[in-house]
Amino acid sequence: MRSSQGTVTIDLARIRANARAICAQTGVGLIAVIKADAYGLGAGEVAAALAPVAAGLATFSLEEVRAGELWQASGLTTLTLGPPDGLPAAYRRAHARPAVSSIGQARRYRSCRPVVCVDTGMRRFACPLDAVSRVVAAGGSTEVFTHAVTVAQARRLLTATRTLPVRRHAAASSLVGSPAAHLDAVRPGLLLYQDAVRVSAPLAAVMSSHGPIGYSAFRSARHGVILMGYAHGLRLGWCLVNGQRRRIREVGMQTSYVDAGERDAVGDEVVLLGGGLALDEVAASWSARPHEVLTTLCGAGQRRYLHRPRASGRRAP
Ligand SMILES: *Cc1c(COP(=O)(O)O)cnc(C)c1O
Repeated sequence: MRSSQGTVTIDLARIRANARAICAQTGVGLIAVIKADAYGLGAGEVAAALAPVAAGLATFSLEEVRAGELWQASGLTTLTLGPPDGLPAAYRRAHARPAVSSIGQARRYRSCRPVVCVDTGMRRFACPLDAVSRVVAAGGSTEVFTHAVTVAQARRLLTATRTLPVRRHAAASSLVGSPAAHLDAVRPGLLLYQDAVRVSAPLAAVMSSHGPIGYSAFRSARHGVILMGYAHGLRLGWCLVNGQRRRIREVGMQTSYVDAGERDAVGDEVVLLGGGLALDEVAASWSARPHEVLTTLCGAGQRRYLHRPRASGRRAP
């Protein structure tokens, strides 16, 4: 659930700038991964913001394309990365293209310009390397991709499709820095959202005491309370109170305790992500991937967008 006191501020101009930087760095097309509601940032809003920069979008399912009204928002076609989950006509209507991994799927979705998903090591809903050319032929496909975590996997895709007239892509965020994995397009998600999100909540109470405090009877000379807890996705770790790095001392269902300083007062902002508190730092304190932290904390409060493109800036469907 979202805390009514929490604010998730999403800087759409920063996302667009990140996308432009990736295009400049790689020199190939950008397929923006906005699955899982753009990792919690809002797929429709992110799609509209990226319309001038991205060559295409990617989600996991057709339902996400429909729910986010991605074509209406951006005028961009969306590749669905998961197993196909709708009628061919529904894909065409949504301007979505399914990822297919068998001859049967390729035939069924031939009218939807299917993209062949190739297994180079992920071992899930993808076609084996030695079957690629048959699946490509069955779907009349002009595009193939693999979900790669190493450059060697991208090379495997290239080798297996060398004689086919297809567009190829392999690189998610972790391979954007590896030119050998760029192929014809890159497909990042996380990197688009870097430094674009700030999650915060105001101090609802501030107290000085000698403890013990809270459920765990911790001690702190001065502590603050925020109205955000594990029900909103918060976990123990670091926060910033008036720009100072402080510990989140205890997380409860809908409230949490943080260490506070002498000058911190009710209403002052506690930052849980962004504004100097990096995603990787929070991920380290959670022992989680940055993807998980971003998706979780983006659901912790009320969304607010900065630098929304004007409606007239969107492409007409
Ligand atoms: C999620 C995903 C991506 C993007 O991954 P990031 O690490 O967020 O860049 C790219 N390709 C596929 C197939 C994915 O599932």
